Amino acid sequence: MALLVVAGTSGAGKGTIVARLRQRHPGIWYSVSATTRPQRPGEENGREYLFLTTEDFVRLRDSGGLLEWFEVYGHLYGTPRGPVEEHLGAGDDVVLELDVQGALAVREVLPEATLLFIRAPSHEEQRRRLEGRGDRADTIEARMAVDEEYEARTGDFDHVIVNDDLDRAVDEVSAILEALRRRPA
Ligand code: ADP
Ligand code: 5GP
Repeated sequence: MALLVVAGTSGAGKGTIVARLRQRHPGIWYSVSATTRPQRPGEENGREYLFLTTEDFVRLRDSGGLLEWFEVYGHLYGTPRGPVEEHLGAGDDVVLELDVQGALAVREVLPEATLLFIRAPSHEEQRRRLEGRGDRADTIEARMAVDEEYEARTGDFDHVIVNDDLDRAVDEVSAILEALRRRPA
């Protein structure tokens, strides 16, 4: 059983790496977060996120339904508590993809969590990836400014992974997962 928390900078490739990891290890259970951010084209409610109104998000949060929650890049994001506890209880491998603050908050509640920080090889490459993904210019600037603060926290993470070559980065995360599975209970 492993609890992997994947965080890092925006556009570093967290989502891409997690998707590859799930293909390689189909038994992994991935936590779908709740968010108030608008749905992007191609996203499906319940698959990438539970897209909630601010009112519904606040109701869920105030009833204790979130393991952690934060405002990230101007919107609310949170991890529904119940499903994570159920899957950990069942001994499943659980993967959360969160922002840096959320990852550190999860470690406070679930100290067995292993925290990964994913970064792009350079700021120029990070910007290229955000542009390539179709993010708006003002969104890119805002995210990169917040990311400078996040980068100062890499020392709090168990592993820092530079996503230059995607296959190599996925191999690295996969090896971490396999080592955690072999760890004595
Ligand atoms: P994040 O989830 O960290 O915000 P994404 O997974 O959405 O980032 O990736 C941002 C963009 O970068 C996507 O267009 C993705 O296809 C691309 N990308 C991811 N990993 C690499 C890589 N190793 N090399 C080049 N492009 C990549
Ligand atoms: P995006 O809007 O690009 O999908 O995600 C923006 C940021 O929110 C990313 O850094 C992502 O990891 C983070 N995020 C997604 N879900 C959660 C969550 O449940 N909690 C926290 N704290 N951050 C989240």
